Amino acid sequence: MTTHAPQAAQTVVLPDSLDEAVAALTAMPAAVPVAGGTDLMAAVNAGLLRPSALVGLGRISELRGWHYQDGAALLGSGLTHARIGRPDFAALIPALAAAARAAGPPQVRNAGTLGGNIASADRTGDALPVLAALDATVVIAETTGGHREIPVSHLLAGVEMLRPGELVAFVRAPLLHAPQVFLKATGRTGPGRAVASVALVLDPAHRSVRCAVGAVAPTPLRPMEAEQWVAGLMDWDGHRGLPPEALAAFGEYVAAACIPDPPPAAEGEEPPRLPAAALHLRRTVSALARRALGRALS
Ligand SMILES: Cc1cc2nc3c(=O)[nH]c(=O)nc-3n(C[C@H](O)[C@H](O)[C@H](O)COP(=O)(O)OP(=O)(O)OC[C@H]3O[C@@H](n4cnc5c(N)ncnc54)[C@H](O)[C@@H]3O)c2cc1C
Repeated sequence: MTTHAPQAAQTVVLPDSLDEAVAALTAMPAAVPVAGGTDLMAAVNAGLLRPSALVGLGRISELRGWHYQDGAALLGSGLTHARIGRPDFAALIPALAAAARAAGPPQVRNAGTLGGNIASADRTGDALPVLAALDATVVIAETTGGHREIPVSHLLAGVEMLRPGELVAFVRAPLLHAPQVFLKATGRTGPGRAVASVALVLDPAHRSVRCAVGAVAPTPLRPMEAEQWVAGLMDWDGHRGLPPEALAAFGEYVAAACIPDPPPAAEGEEPPRLPAAALHLRRTVSALARRALGRALS
């Protein structure tokens, strides 16, 4: 269906299927896909973007649910934060549900989608550290009608890009059946963008702890040495937790990996110090990582 809304965009196309959406984007190279519009329309309203055509993804029902495949969940990119935050989804991927519940005020959560969060790739995107900790992949609908699958982290880091006309179709996330935690610091009370966030998942089958820190860098950071260190301390066969000192040491390890000390001074120079704001951020990350691990093990 095509309508005309001259003030916003010359053409608005509302396809009913993924194939139609990709075909529309291919036919109109200047067209921009729009899902919930929470990021895109903010950019339009701020005068930063003037798309001549929009391809709305809101009618594509295959993108609004999820299904299971080989022990993983294939999540439609059109799932809204509100839907992901509901209890049935939280039983599957608790950390993603917790991130979705923290993603802005209710009106944003009702419209904003998982795919939009990924495609916007904002450093404060709450789903992003969770997807990084899960080692999730994205299934991209290609203009040829085929699909390719790449790690979310590659897309976020720009190692691989969405090509013109392509869409984020699904996210493949493992079902780990183990505790997961997402925690976010906003620097204010109530909903707000993350100053720092931590996603932590336990993967008992691989005896691994995976942790990603959001908002402190352009893309989520994985402190892999800290992950391996703490996984080595864990009692995977029993139910013993870790002592408070180990939780605190993990927090410090994660924080120092994500916000490192400045390089050592040259001879005769004063040793460089971490600026106060960076020191504060490091303490915040340390506290989030310590609490996340403590909650996962409690
Ligand atoms: C007031 C406010 C508060 C917010 N607070 C938070 C917050 O706390 N945490 C948080 O994470 N986010 C927050 N957001 C950001 C926003 O809600 C999310 O990033 C949301 O997930 C974006 O999804 P969307 O469907 O609205 O994307 P849209 O605005 O529709 O699209 C965003 C971008 O992604 C592209 N795109 C959309 N879907 C696809 C797709 N399937 N394939 C390829 N490209 C696509 C669009 O072309 C556009 O470039 C906030 C936004 C607002 C306005």
